[in-house]
Amino acid sequence: MIQTIQGKVALVTGSTSGIGLAVARQLAQAGAGVVLNGLGDAAQIERLRASLAEEYGVPVRYSGADMSRPEQIAEMVATAERELGAVDILVNNAGIQHVAPVDEFPQAKWEQILAINLSSNFHAIRAALPGMKSRGWGRIVNIASAHGLVASPFKSAYVAAKHGVVGLTKTVALEVAESAITCNAICPGYVKTPLVEGQVRDQAKAHGLSEERVVREVILASQPNKRFVEAQAIGDIVLFLCSPAADAITGIALPVEGGWTAR
Ligand code: NAD
Repeated sequence: MIQTIQGKVALVTGSTSGIGLAVARQLAQAGAGVVLNGLGDAAQIERLRASLAEEYGVPVRYSGADMSRPEQIAEMVATAERELGAVDILVNNAGIQHVAPVDEFPQAKWEQILAINLSSNFHAIRAALPGMKSRGWGRIVNIASAHGLVASPFKSAYVAAKHGVVGLTKTVALEVAESAITCNAICPGYVKTPLVEGQVRDQAKAHGLSEERVVREVILASQPNKRFVEAQAIGDIVLFLCSPAADAITGIALPVEGGWTAR
């Protein structure tokens, strides 16, 4: 598995935290050069960048591109190709959430979630695909969500965006099916990350419940195994999708959600 990843270059959007960071770390550990991206404190991000580079002996760069800005996404991909020689593996992971009834949903939040959670995937794929085609190999992994397959109330923008990611994944997969480029989506259930911790707080307000009850009765209510998904498991699946064993896997939306969508 590691052999195909060694020496490749991976760009992971939203990798300063949570799932993206776990994925970036595992790709670096497997020998890929990595471009980190995401928001956060500049000094902390620089420490993270330097520590990954030192620990795994691979080039690690950081792009502060805002995933709601198409021109910054294109520039991020171009810079990665110029400085590291390629973007062989693209993991579209950056995402945000906002929870509110649809008739009270702030319009600006709708636009922002669609831009960051869905359109950024399109812009990054659009920018990275020509290089993958010219080198004859590529892996695109879009981190969608169980909410790319089923809905929950109060998450109209997120559910719409993640369903869109699944549709985009299938379309790209079909367009490049005859090449050695695959495009897949991973659909995690609840992973304990800062994004979910924020949702616990928001849902507690929306339902008028304590945060403990929200975790037990609201969040993990939909997840039959009653356990959070480990961020590292998502990294392991990305590595698998980059391996030769996954050469014929393309256009899938892989549920990783403890049985949520089996209901
Ligand atoms: P997180 O909040 O821990 O990390 C999100 C990352 O995206 C951070 O690095 C953040 O800086 C970055 N980001 C946010 N807005 C950005 C912007 N405008 N430009 C650039 N980067 C930006 O969240 P997470 O839980 O790790 O989520 C990662 C992805 O996984 C998201 O797409 C999310 O929808 C998806 N997901 C998460 C869960 C879960 O339970 N945590 C479940 C299913 C899917």
